[in-house]
Amino acid sequence: MGLAYFCAERCALCAFVARNGVVLRRIAYNLPLFIGGTVYLLVCGALCVAVAASAVVGAFFARARRGFLFGAANKVCAKRNTLVKSRQISYYICVMECYLCPRNCGADRSAGRGVCGVDGLLVSRISVHNWEEPCISGKKGSGTVFFAGCNLHCRFCQNYRISALPHGVYVSEERLADILLYVQTLGVANINLVTPTHFSDKIARALRLAKPRLTVPVVYNTSGYDKVQALAQLQGLVDVYLPDLKFASPEVSRRLAGAPDYFDVATRAITEMRRQQPQDVFDDDGYIVRGVVVRHLVLPSFTEDSKRILDWLAHFDKDIYVSLMSQYFPARTDDAFPQLNRRLFRHEYDNVRRYFFNVGLHNGYEQDVSSATEDYLPDFDDGDVQQTIDKVPKVF
Ligand code: SF4
Repeated sequence: MGLAYFCAERCALCAFVARNGVVLRRIAYNLPLFIGGTVYLLVCGALCVAVAASAVVGAFFARARRGFLFGAANKVCAKRNTLVKSRQISYYICVMECYLCPRNCGADRSAGRGVCGVDGLLVSRISVHNWEEPCISGKKGSGTVFFAGCNLHCRFCQNYRISALPHGVYVSEERLADILLYVQTLGVANINLVTPTHFSDKIARALRLAKPRLTVPVVYNTSGYDKVQALAQLQGLVDVYLPDLKFASPEVSRRLAGAPDYFDVATRAITEMRRQQPQDVFDDDGYIVRGVVVRHLVLPSFTEDSKRILDWLAHFDKDIYVSLMSQYFPARTDDAFPQLNRRLFRHEYDNVRRYFFNVGLHNGYEQDVSSATEDYLPDFDDGDVQQTIDKVPKVF
């Protein structure tokens, strides 16, 4: 009401106010609400556009699978260790490069596969295995967890159904820890991690969770093509190392596994394993609870290479346990190496066996040549492993 008589002279302004007083009052009351609402909508709109644009950029560069918003990639990058390196392509995009094994292929396993043929943690089989060495399997059996893929790819691989044609069930590190606890409940002598090299970082994390609750030894069953740096991360987590020492000659390992550096790498790895487990300790029932057992599979026509391996082992440690294996059989026909398309002759194995004693080795295991049959191979079946994992209780 007062607005109508603002000034005594009733000027034009006052006249205008007097005429439109009600409308002006409504505008005056609602103006702050109007301005506030407009600013609010503008800010929300801008934020939505920013988030959508960031998501599109992240999705476009699918290699940066995690954390493409506002520097989260920086944090993800910073978490990785030196074996799985991070490379920052841009502020938003971080690429992981795997250098976990001696192949050093630098694959981004969050977006694809490296030489080992696998990306995520892929379990192919969980079973009680009765055909390992007596100190590993014994009467109880060994609780094997087979991992898919392989970083070595021997041409004659007898487990090629899971190493060259990876299949199985993807699990998280926590789920793997659950699986290890479950395997222990099967009454086995140990937990036997088969072909673990290309997952050693994830296995180390799973073992850190499960190890305090494990009452049986953990066996690391590997091709020997392992980096010392990767093995160092397993210190205190692995009780028994079960490495192969497959080839001595760089030429043989180049032709049979595409790894001319195999002998150098594997002997350094075995030295590190021995450093971590300097004593071989067995329980009253003959099961190994700590130590190192080296396996060597004698190949048809490659007995001279076997002898060079025994030379090195005798020089390294005359007391080391060696499993001298004769179980080779041609899993596939190989036209490039016809000498591998047959089983081992008994005289070839006996020749290497005699050499074992001649060089002063005296601890170990031998095999009957008649054990060279597919009957002793595990049956790899996806359905099987999925059913087993479904039964595993969730702990972590
Ligand atoms: S573990 Fe696989 S991806 Fe990593 S370096 Fe070795 S082969 Fe390449």
